[in-house]
Amino acid sequence: MTRLLTQGTTVVGVEFRDSTGRLRKAFVTHEVILSAYLNSAAILQRSGIGPADVLASAGITPVLVNENVGQNFQVQGILQLPAFWANMTGTGMGVGQTPSLATSMTTDTTGVPTPSNRAFLNFAFGFYGVPQVAALGVVQNFPVSKGYVKVNSPDPFMSPQIYTGLLSNSSDVVSYREDVRALILDITAYDPSFLPLTLDNATLYDDTALDAFIRANMEVQYHYHDMTKMGTSAATSVIDARFRVHGMTGLRVCDNGVIPVTDGNPSLPVSAIGDICGRLILEDAGSGYARKPNRVPAAAKKGARVSTPAKRAPSLSPRALPSSPEICAAIETYITWIRANRGDEGQRLVDAIINGPVYTAHNCASA
Ligand SMILES: Cc1cc2nc3c(=O)[nH]c(=O)nc-3n(C[C@H](O)[C@H](O)[C@H](O)COP(=O)(O)OP(=O)(O)OC[C@H]3O[C@@H](n4cnc5c(N)ncnc54)[C@H](O)[C@@H]3O)c2cc1C
Repeated sequence: MTRLLTQGTTVVGVEFRDSTGRLRKAFVTHEVILSAYLNSAAILQRSGIGPADVLASAGITPVLVNENVGQNFQVQGILQLPAFWANMTGTGMGVGQTPSLATSMTTDTTGVPTPSNRAFLNFAFGFYGVPQVAALGVVQNFPVSKGYVKVNSPDPFMSPQIYTGLLSNSSDVVSYREDVRALILDITAYDPSFLPLTLDNATLYDDTALDAFIRANMEVQYHYHDMTKMGTSAATSVIDARFRVHGMTGLRVCDNGVIPVTDGNPSLPVSAIGDICGRLILEDAGSGYARKPNRVPAAAKKGARVSTPAKRAPSLSPRALPSSPEICAAIETYITWIRANRGDEGQRLVDAIINGPVYTAHNCASA
């Protein structure tokens, strides 16, 4: 589907490319349901529904100006730290949530505190397929930073510009840094055999260096939110509580982009969105299928969140991380295992470790 077909502010159909590559049109009797997730905002904008400056700079004739289309974009970031964990038992993929390690808290508009960041551990073969190698993952649960999705052209085959905004708000930088540091210190204090492989002491204890490390290693978690935000008016959002685009007739957006970030994975919320949206569509079509009053997903009602730095300062014990000989010995064991079990395929990982900051900083080659 390339764009919406409109008459004034009424959506009458869609344009799409068929299997032969030809652009065709399909007209609707009732309405169009957009469920293209990251692309929904781009399709709206390309169809003339979006922020005035985005439409103008892309050369798109406005159908309806809504400054929120593609804005408010939030995505969860994740930092995964490979570690050698000698005391780890068991094999196979495992994920352990460790919410008790989360330190800084976010308070939503209802006053309910939730962890800003969440730690988890991928065990054993969960990382690199190597026994006794774990990954400490720290998910930025509730970022304050915002990005955007915007099209640069009316051409439907040109990708939209996507800016994640990760760590663009200074409060996210502080809270994430504090949590990453506290989590590493907590877990190494809990079990000293847990040895981070890519992070050294100098980096861990230095704010600037740790921030740079986080920025260099943080990844996007593919959980995109709020670019087609649900809310009470066009001034603050894109769709109403029945998933209808504000100001338009015959158009809904039903996908994961209508709700704010949730505490974890979005699979369940998006299933609920599909179910609720389907019921509302049928109800509005007069089928009588959805007799019960429909509710807006609770997460959609939550307002802006404010992230606060960690309440307690992490205990910066110099004994929290292992000594150089311990680290070098662990890495050698790890490299030996990779060479024995992963052959040529593992050489890339071995090279990365040998040329990595930890191996070099601890002078492991000559140890
Ligand atoms: C790599 C990756 C890993 C993930 N892992 C997890 C996980 O472990 N747990 C979890 O809960 N969530 C995970 N997610 C997120 C989860 O997949 C999404 O939140 C969820 O799929 C959103 O559902 P949706 O229906 O809104 O959009 P989608 O499932 O993305 O569906 C959108 C559909 O629209 C189609 N589409 C897009 N543009 C057009 C167009 N122009 N014309 C026609 N069709 C179009 C797409 O092909 C797609 O089929 C992951 C996402 C990614 C990318």
